[in-house]
Amino acid sequence: MFRFFVFIILIYLLYKVIETVGKLKSAKNENYQFKSSATEGEDLVEDPVCHTYVPLSQAFKKEISGNDYYFCSKQCSEKYESGKNK
Ligand SMILES: [Zn+2]
Repeated sequence: MFRFFVFIILIYLLYKVIETVGKLKSAKNENYQFKSSATEGEDLVEDPVCHTYVPLSQAFKKEISGNDYYFCSKQCSEKYESGKNK
């Protein structure tokens, strides 16, 4: 019976070690992902109207005379166009 008890404790300790290692690994992965996203990040584009930097995926894209322009909002794109036409 005593042996069985020791066996259970060993299994428990082994489980704890695996759990701890697993946590450390996932924490490292999280750090790595955080770092890579912080250094590489998403491309930022500058709004030519209000000079705000907007992530490419959130930017309001407009093609004006063959060129792609990125704005923070539709309002800024309209401002840019009306300013250009004047
Ligand atoms: Zn803007």
